[in-house]
Amino acid sequence: MTTELLFRDDAYLRTASARVVAVYERGIELDRTIFYPQGGQVGDSGTLVRANGERIGIADTRKGDLPDSVIHVPGAAMPTPDIGETLALEIDWTRRHALMRLHTALHVMSCVVVAPVTGGNIAPDKARLDFDIDMSLLDATHIERETNALIARGVPTETVWITDAELDARPELVKTMSVQPPRGSGRVRLLRIPGIDLQPCGGTHVANIGEIGAIRVLKIRSEGRRNRRVEIALAEPA
Ligand SMILES: [Zn+2]
Repeated sequence: MTTELLFRDDAYLRTASARVVAVYERGIELDRTIFYPQGGQVGDSGTLVRANGERIGIADTRKGDLPDSVIHVPGAAMPTPDIGETLALEIDWTRRHALMRLHTALHVMSCVVVAPVTGGNIAPDKARLDFDIDMSLLDATHIERETNALIARGVPTETVWITDAELDARPELVKTMSVQPPRGSGRVRLLRIPGIDLQPCGGTHVANIGEIGAIRVLKIRSEGRRNRRVEIALAEPA
């Protein structure tokens, strides 16, 4: 069963309603969701509210076995909903918004550090990219200053879709060596920050890069010859 991914068209949805389609040992599957499953960015947390007001706390969200299937992982000792039941969905918005800001900040930073991306992760308090680059080319002060100068331009972000064939014709769009964009559905989602960045990404982003605010470089360290890690945080987390 695939889940309709409402966050894909609108990352700002904090609430929605959905129907339970399956209940597994590891979690709950719905016909549609605003919960982003772990993948580059950590999975969302939040609450599923039953018609009787009972609240099912969701500790994490993971991808299911099929493409576009999403498993909502309840916390310990939560009530189990019935198949067919309609639930009100609420994500932990403060946490998600921090993830959206940090995620978009990495897109901007990847245009300051121009090198192949070999890894990355986004948590609510910090985010990182790994680059295949010489350590001597990474300077925290420079990265912080240039990234913040781009953020200060306050450019709106756009989601665009292209076909697999169009992406194959433009391999330079793919900066991430570790995670190739998913193919097979015939089209690929891109995030465009006009004049700054364009790359395949299925994640959640802010509508305008000005919403990120300033970032800080927390540390730069080597995790291996092809993994020079740059870790950042929001200067004003909330
Ligand atoms: Zn992204």
